[in-house]
Amino acid sequence: MDKNVINRKFKRLVITIETPQAKTGNGPAVGGKVNNLMLIGAEENNGKEGKKYLIKGLRGWINHAMMTLAKQEGIEVCHTSEKTETQKGESLLPEGFHSLGKCLEHKNECVKHKLMGSFAKASKLRFEPVIIISKAYKGKIPEEVQSVHIATDNRNALMQQSKTAIQDFGERYFAGEFELKIEFLKEVTKEELGFLLKAILYAPEIGLGSASNNGAGKTKMLKVILQEVVRSRGFDRQGKVIEEEKTRNLWKEMEEGLAAWPA
Ligand SMILES: [Zn+2]
Repeated sequence: MDKNVINRKFKRLVITIETPQAKTGNGPAVGGKVNNLMLIGAEENNGKEGKKYLIKGLRGWINHAMMTLAKQEGIEVCHTSEKTETQKGESLLPEGFHSLGKCLEHKNECVKHKLMGSFAKASKLRFEPVIIISKAYKGKIPEEVQSVHIATDNRNALMQQSKTAIQDFGERYFAGEFELKIEFLKEVTKEELGFLLKAILYAPEIGLGSASNNGAGKTKMLKVILQEVVRSRGFDRQGKVIEEEKTRNLWKEMEEGLAAWPA
């Protein structure tokens, strides 16, 4: 190893996802403003602006897939809902779940908590932010930004009787192929890997983002790769920081994971 650079070795999943139309996040906010993709700045090219957005809700989507799949397999895991009891102490949790972090308190940690954690324990997984820009933007695109189709769906909310408009709003949506990277911050067991991989395979059964009952949020998982990554960073003679990544695919480990959950 080169002594003048720093290295970090870790594993990650690289997932390629395709959607014909998705509206992620919170939907229209108060006042009819669009809030479903988070605007995080813009690139400039000859006076033309390319807005960059963060796709929200990807972690929540996988979380939801984990819950639904575990329930289907009859395996109890944490429920993510924050409100778990009425004021009278009656449970609001659906059958087959315990409240978030309860399993850790009882020293019987479930597979979902091992991966996703809670306020009591940090997650093993880091979801890399997915930042998108419109395909219509013709300037140079930064390395970490992905180019997809972005447009606005303009809609009217009408009064039931008189049909007069009470609210106009635009919901931004995106379409196309994008990559999601999930980095492993700690060693993940075979069982945990299998659960995660199967939740990813299950996720298209659950709509991504809002309006999924109206046909939005359909997804296709195109590819899932488990990688070992060695990332290094050092300087060149001008003091510029040079970053490099060496990757190796771990298909055998993926197969072993798939076989390990459910046990
Ligand atoms: Zn749990």
